Amino acid sequence: MDESAVAQRLANLRRLVAAGATRGPVAVCAVTKGFGPEAVTLAHRLGCDAIGENYAQEAITKITAVGSAHPPVHFIGRLQSNKIRSLVGVVSVWQSVDRASIVEEIAKRSAGARIYVQVNATGESDKGGCEPRGVAGLVEQAQRSGLVVDGLMTVGPTDEDPQRTRDAFASVRALADQLGLVGCSMGMSGDLEIALAEGTTMVRLGTALFGERPSATRNPEVI
Ligand SMILES: *Cc1c(COP(=O)(O)O)cnc(C)c1O
Repeated sequence: MDESAVAQRLANLRRLVAAGATRGPVAVCAVTKGFGPEAVTLAHRLGCDAIGENYAQEAITKITAVGSAHPPVHFIGRLQSNKIRSLVGVVSVWQSVDRASIVEEIAKRSAGARIYVQVNATGESDKGGCEPRGVAGLVEQAQRSGLVVDGLMTVGPTDEDPQRTRDAFASVRALADQLGLVGCSMGMSGDLEIALAEGTTMVRLGTALFGERPSATRNPEVI
């Protein structure tokens, strides 16, 4: 990993984020899936706000290797109930919570944990996320069970069509506002600027920061 190249990219991204932010400060989540522990250590050294990981075993192995010096780990991949127990202690924020059984399991294994509810705002069947009409109920269930809902999370359309991306992000921002939630985790390397314009509070950046991923985990929704 070319550390000075990553530092330079981060500096440029931070400028872009500062210039484009429409809702106060925007956090940078460095998505380290597909990269080794050195990416986590580097993100820590460069002051990234969070680490994003998608796969349970990869996250556990990597974070164990790094030790305690790392930004808070945000889990952003498909969640399976049977993996949650092993992730407690590694994960600080669960971003991809999209159904009642996952809320129940997190509340049981990690009382009071911080979560985002993931919204499928594009209608794409291969995407994770709760349908928009189910979001209010899921947020309420989470809060009732003692979890802290930081906000909503979403992934833009796979084809990156700018108008569809804008519509998806705007609808998630509006839904968060309606529910009184400040956080909106949206925007990746390819749709960062649209997310900023539509009121994101956290962007999740992988390739724009670290370069192409070495392993076959480029598509966020394909395991
Ligand atoms: C992989 C992934 C990202 C980062 O994707 P890039 O295009 O590399 O920035 C962000 N969010 C989620 C949910 C992902 O799976």
